[in-house]
Amino acid sequence: MKSVRPASTEEIDEQLRELAEQLTRMDQRLRRLERQVAATTPRGWECTVCERGWVSARGGVLSCNRCSFRRHL
Ligand SMILES: [Zn+2]
Repeated sequence: MKSVRPASTEEIDEQLRELAEQLTRMDQRLRRLERQVAATTPRGWECTVCERGWVSARGGVLSCNRCSFRRHL
């Protein structure tokens, strides 16, 4: 019966390095996606209360520029 050879320290180091590189690549990809989302997300949306104003988030508060709609995030 063949015994399973435990992974050597070098092999574990190599695996860890590969995993670290994968994480770095995924992190970079995530940042790129976040920038894309931030660039394409509008700064506000039509108010559903008065249907004429524009709701935007500022300082953690959503507010309409036409009616009294306010909501804390
Ligand atoms: Zn409104």
